[in-house]
Amino acid sequence: MPRDGDATIRVGIGYDSHRFAPGRPLTLGGVLIPAEVGLLGHSDADAICHAVTDAILGAAGLGDIGEMFPDTDPANKDRDSIGMLEAAVKRIATAGYRVHQVDVSVVAESPRLSPHREKIRARLASALGIESASVSVKGKSNEGMGWIGRKEGLACIAVATLKGNR
Ligand code: MG
Repeated sequence: MPRDGDATIRVGIGYDSHRFAPGRPLTLGGVLIPAEVGLLGHSDADAICHAVTDAILGAAGLGDIGEMFPDTDPANKDRDSIGMLEAAVKRIATAGYRVHQVDVSVVAESPRLSPHREKIRARLASALGIESASVSVKGKSNEGMGWIGRKEGLACIAVATLKGNR
């Protein structure tokens, strides 16, 4: 018997990429990472948060981050992306869903994510209202190929599972 509210399982995918730029902070999964270059974007350019936000909105069939937070709106300039993620969690909750589990891959030649992995998992888990054990964050290089290999930027892919009562 499914628990109350567990009748449905839905899966969503999210993708995001941002260009590296000097003089910008590098924030991934809500964690400020010391690095020579940061990420360019209208908001804080937190590609992990953006991909996870799209994954959970996608799983619920509730649009995407660009629709919730248009980059034409000055209010979204340098906006904290953890706050956007939390807003998306609230949005899916009103539709009867909660986040069950999230898995993230970050594709970048540098910096190495492993020293920051546990902090990122904890920060995302807190925003998602789940345990760190239910949040996976993995780093991959692109083996020197293409725009990621040339260190022009990084990409992030996220998959989210939701449980819900509809
Ligand atoms: Mg983005």
